[in-house]
Amino acid sequence: MYNPKSMKAEEFINHEEILDTLSFADEHKTDRELIDSILKKAREYKGLSHREASVLLACELPDKNQELYALAEQIKKDFYGNRIVMFAPLYLSNYCVNGCLYCPYHYKNKHIARKKLTQEEIKKEVIALQDMGHKRLALEAGEDPVNNPLEYILESIKTIYSIKHKNGAIRRVNVNIAATTVENYKKLKEAGIGTYILFQETYHKETYEHLHPTGPKSNYNYHTEAHDRAMQGGIDDVGLGVLFGLELYRYEFAGLLMHAEHLEAVFGVGPHTISVPRVCPADDIDPDEFDNGISDDMFAKIVACIRVAVPYTGMIISTRESKSVRERVLHLGVSQISGGSKTSVGGYCQPEPEEENSAQFELSDNRTLDEIVLWLMEMGYLPSFCTACYREGRTGDRFMSLCKSGQIHNCCLPNALMTLKEYLTDYASDKTREVGEELINRQMTDIPSDKVRSIVKERLGKIENGIRDFRF
Ligand code: SF4
Ligand code: SF4
Repeated sequence: MYNPKSMKAEEFINHEEILDTLSFADEHKTDRELIDSILKKAREYKGLSHREASVLLACELPDKNQELYALAEQIKKDFYGNRIVMFAPLYLSNYCVNGCLYCPYHYKNKHIARKKLTQEEIKKEVIALQDMGHKRLALEAGEDPVNNPLEYILESIKTIYSIKHKNGAIRRVNVNIAATTVENYKKLKEAGIGTYILFQETYHKETYEHLHPTGPKSNYNYHTEAHDRAMQGGIDDVGLGVLFGLELYRYEFAGLLMHAEHLEAVFGVGPHTISVPRVCPADDIDPDEFDNGISDDMFAKIVACIRVAVPYTGMIISTRESKSVRERVLHLGVSQISGGSKTSVGGYCQPEPEEENSAQFELSDNRTLDEIVLWLMEMGYLPSFCTACYREGRTGDRFMSLCKSGQIHNCCLPNALMTLKEYLTDYASDKTREVGEELINRQMTDIPSDKVRSIVKERLGKIENGIRDFRF
């Protein structure tokens, strides 16, 4: 039985409910009246159920699809303005005991180079990331209780937060590690992590079990219930994601939204972020082996549908996607992107020789952070290195209620301008600095409150004089 409040994976991600949802969406894909009523509800910015959003995803009426895209764009503008938050992944170790068929870190892959960073090597990686200008990281590690026990992850987080190189600092460490126990989530919380991110990969249980033949990750229920345990362990911000291409995208989409509804129903707060990766080439992985690949058009539609269904949830896109695809989906709802990323272990300090490849996937966007910052600004976006909410204790329901009250706008724009100013002052190329300074001047006038504007003006001057880390 489908029950969003249940703590059992198969009840809150219920297979029959998903199948019913897909049939319902199919039956109504040209039902103008219903689609109009769903779009009307979405325009109230209160989100949509998995069933309603699935009808929009299936919709075959071109004019209604255009309305959907326009609405996604409007929601993006109203909630996130033109800001795009920047982050980078940091791979700690690619040792892994699991057998995931879509990832080159699976334990049977004997020719990929296995690496694990020492604390000394982590320091060097973090300094390299700080020297690029990054403030926000996503930690990545395979699951291996011997090589990468939780103690190693905790020690690494401590190391990362302790490094202050020149004006650099990593101010928020998000963590993407294997499903674990409530006790371990408590320890991660105590270590000061930002968001705990865990991708479901696929919500289809049978497919999940096929794709995860061995290792602890093969337990579908344990994996699917991990975000609940993280919340029980005190982590307020959790991130969801599926790997599009493994199963039918419509199935995954419904499952993803049911998962969001479950978190909201049980904990009163939905996911902090949703990531939308697609299967892509890697060491011994050929995406063509998976039958469910989605076109760029459908990918854009998924992004738009997620945006209207969960307006308060940040959406993340990585360098798995090319410049052109990123360009296409940014305005439809993506709020965070990675830049200057390396997906190999130890890749920031020095490039890896080809015979020592340890990358999890091939990048489709190889530009530097400076190039990405400039590209964003030239398209009219405001790159932000803001980490303020988490550091001000605005997490979980406090973050969501701030978001829902509309007050978040009094924080985000000033914080984006001040953190961009830090970036321009400390790390940018001349061209980027020039474009960025103009952008800051222009956007100062968008700060609604005179008082806040004058505080920001004063702080921008202080940043030029070497003072860092202002925030609202
Ligand atoms: S997806 Fe994660 S758990 Fe699976 S093989 Fe890759 S690193 Fe290991
Ligand atoms: S103020 Fe909060 S919501 Fe806004 S960009 Fe910063 S961290 Fe994100």
